Amino acid sequence: MELNIYGLKCDNSNCDYQDKSIKFEEYEKYINYPCPECSEPLLTQADFDTTMQIVKFAEIAQKLGFTNENSAPGELVKVQVELDGTGIPRFNLGGKHED
Ligand SMILES: [Zn+2]
Repeated sequence: MELNIYGLKCDNSNCDYQDKSIKFEEYEKYINYPCPECSEPLLTQADFDTTMQIVKFAEIAQKLGFTNENSAPGELVKVQVELDGTGIPRFNLGGKHED
């Protein structure tokens, strides 16, 4: 299981500001950091807490040897996580055709 956690996106649905250069390790500094364009928070405390839980879960899953049963042995499962300020994550599983 591979988590791609990086970048922050503005929580305001009318604003498309995002910064993909922000690393996961830097997230803590961006809690309640105002968007440069609309001053909505880029990362809420709730979203940060959720992100940390996801990371912890992924670490445990990795230790237990968890793999996605739909993927070939040894294949990494890519999971993209989207958060919109509510603390409720939306998961996008990569590597599959969903069009
Ligand atoms: Zn914004």
